[in-house]
Amino acid sequence: MPAALRSIEDSGIFSNYGPLNSRFEHRLVAECFAGAGGCLTVCNATIGLMMAIHAVTTLHGTRRRRYALMPSFTFAATAHAAIWAGFTPLLCDIDEHTWLPCHAAEAALLASLGDDIGVMVPCATFGACLDLDHYAALSRQYNIPVVIDAAPALGSLDAAGRPFAAGCKLPTVFSMHATKAFAVGEGGVIYADDPELMRGLRAMGNFGFDQNRSVTALGINAKLSEVSALLALAKLDELEDVVSHRAARLDQYRAGLPGWTFQQPTGQRQTIQFVAVLPPPGVGRDPLRAILAQHEIGCGTYFSPHLAEQPYFQTIAQAGDLQRTDSIAQRILALPISDTITAAEVDFVCAVLRDAADSAITDSLSHAA
Ligand SMILES: *Cc1c(COP(=O)(O)O)cnc(C)c1O
Repeated sequence: MPAALRSIEDSGIFSNYGPLNSRFEHRLVAECFAGAGGCLTVCNATIGLMMAIHAVTTLHGTRRRRYALMPSFTFAATAHAAIWAGFTPLLCDIDEHTWLPCHAAEAALLASLGDDIGVMVPCATFGACLDLDHYAALSRQYNIPVVIDAAPALGSLDAAGRPFAAGCKLPTVFSMHATKAFAVGEGGVIYADDPELMRGLRAMGNFGFDQNRSVTALGINAKLSEVSALLALAKLDELEDVVSHRAARLDQYRAGLPGWTFQQPTGQRQTIQFVAVLPPPGVGRDPLRAILAQHEIGCGTYFSPHLAEQPYFQTIAQAGDLQRTDSIAQRILALPISDTITAAEVDFVCAVLRDAADSAITDSLSHAA
């Protein structure tokens, strides 16, 4: 057994916010949040979102309201967390360029349904930085709490070059799932520069126990094991390399696919989980997927179907106008990125896609002629 695992065994502490977990939380604050605020680990980001939504809506007295306002262009977990916390997802459209929740769409739903909205859950789509001042202002204006779903965004730098969410009072939830850049396996982190909120969340994650092991509030078991904390510490050591490697490969995709549409950056550096692109006009997604498959190149279609297109959420959720979400989700393609993908591999993927797009356009022109 490797020495680090042996030392967990010898310590006899396997969980319950143990020493490795504490070291990880402290290092995260110092290294990923500029030393401000606090971090709490959770067993995954979905549970972290559920807890944060429950906590802020209890504190704000909006728990009995109906809706959780969120974009339809997100992962299923955002909606599930809200539903578990007792809310009906209210789905809004996204911005055409940044693919983040559209401020005008949010404003329209807040104006018409504001008194029924208990919480806003904007998402840092694909690791892009949200305008957190905007959400703090909205929260004050409407007196509605906010939880940020920043699942893939650990390591992103905002427009000023600061770590995304550093110093933010609004609880911000990050994931350490195997599919994210900060890949640990299962795990998550709740961040906020709000010590009282963080104390409450820490108790909630440990069955709602106070210092006397007496339950004073709703709790759950959301703790990260010491083995996971050990892996998370190791991942933290390589985070800068992982994020900058991925950012460099993204730049290469941008340069290699002229005429394709990429997400408009909102920060200085985006921690990317996928390289999401829209093919040039007139080039269908399905033929491209077929050609990628022929070359044994994996690809995905995140977030398509978007939430409002999925059967379970259709039975529950309410939606505003989703025109841009529909149009972007229909076309989106997620290209391969990993910690080990090489420049030559990205060049190859770009060449295959350029050829495929050229022949799709030539085909459609010859059909038109
Ligand atoms: C991955 C993801 C989640 C869920 O994270 P888990 O740690 O797997 O629970 C939530 N929201 C978004 C936007 C995600 O991408």
